[in-house]
Amino acid sequence: MKSKIDLRHERSGLLPDLSGIKTPCYLLDLSALKSNGEIISEVAKESGGKALLALKAFAAWPVFPEISKYYSGTCSSSLDETRLGFEEFGGEVHAFSPAYKDCEIEEYIRMCSHLSFNSLSQWERHKRTILDSEKKVSCGLRVNPEHCEVETAIYNPCRPGSRLGIRAGELENFDFEGIEGLHFHALCENNADALERTLDAFEERFASYLDGMKWVNFGGGHHITRKDYDTGLLIDLIKEFRKKWGCEVYIEPGEACALNAGWLISEVVDIKDNDGMIAIVDASATAHMPDVLEMPYRPYIVGSAKPGKKKYTYRLGGPSCLSGDDIGTYSFDCELKPGDKLAFTDMAHYTMVKNTTFNGIRLPDILLWDPEKDSIEVLRTFGYEDFRSRLG
Ligand SMILES: *Cc1c(COP(=O)(O)O)cnc(C)c1O
Repeated sequence: MKSKIDLRHERSGLLPDLSGIKTPCYLLDLSALKSNGEIISEVAKESGGKALLALKAFAAWPVFPEISKYYSGTCSSSLDETRLGFEEFGGEVHAFSPAYKDCEIEEYIRMCSHLSFNSLSQWERHKRTILDSEKKVSCGLRVNPEHCEVETAIYNPCRPGSRLGIRAGELENFDFEGIEGLHFHALCENNADALERTLDAFEERFASYLDGMKWVNFGGGHHITRKDYDTGLLIDLIKEFRKKWGCEVYIEPGEACALNAGWLISEVVDIKDNDGMIAIVDASATAHMPDVLEMPYRPYIVGSAKPGKKKYTYRLGGPSCLSGDDIGTYSFDCELKPGDKLAFTDMAHYTMVKNTTFNGIRLPDILLWDPEKDSIEVLRTFGYEDFRSRLG
């Protein structure tokens, strides 16, 4: 989920030599993943809270051994994500699902330390299986604070009519036997002031249920590793909440863990003209950077400027046949020509995890750059079989 916030940052200029790199590919920056982890683990340490990596945003498991020490564990929203966290990351395993199927619940119990439920009917349905199980799982309810801080509707879990979370009114007369925590997720790319307002709304509606809770999970959407993020306020909010209610506090950042931690490297394939110059590149908005169309936003390309600011302006389009596979309009100092490489910044989160092989467009390879060792490791390449094997 990318905002209109300008994320071009000091790292843009720190790219390794791209000349030998095959495109399209994601080039992950290990030092950025580590420094994000350091900022987040510092927040946890200072506040006494616990931070979980939200796998929905970033799940490139080969780097887990390098970053798992910064987090208390993972949070996930499906059986397969949960398994990835359980098998590859370690630590606590938290899951939330809009609805758990009967055939899945035993496996969730086996792998999870914490499970949150999206409705009272879901909890009632699975309660006996969980409470009668030998394996102990700490269960919670996901609640809806009914407080909006997110303008883009598809990323706003508190929008009117939302299917996510239980509203306070539903909890009157509810028997909390077996429930140890409350979970809310209401933010997206927000600063700590938005959390402060959300906490006010949460406490206003749910204070009467908080006594005796073992934990409260503040969800994700905390843009902790962004330059202007107020980590001091986040630390204070967690600290105060822990003190006031005597419970553990979790946060589940996703995007913040992988913010500005990788590029999508693409190559110009052709230049054509229709009311202005168009460059066809080998990276696709719809297949490789879907938030460009969903948010929508205009990704930054290293060395580019807004249309008309530099001498040569191009509309960039992807290789699919989707008419709307448009990436944006950019200007450059030099004319683009086939073979030129373009580096889209901030492409580590909500990209690899969302990619499709739509139109047979090949998935970008995944590379890991370690600036300390000045090495580039190929984590994964993709080919025809990855397209074919998903279709039969
Ligand atoms: C998406 C999500 C997260 C992570 O959100 P970010 O915006 O990537 O920080 C955390 N918790 C839940 C329940 C989510 O759905």
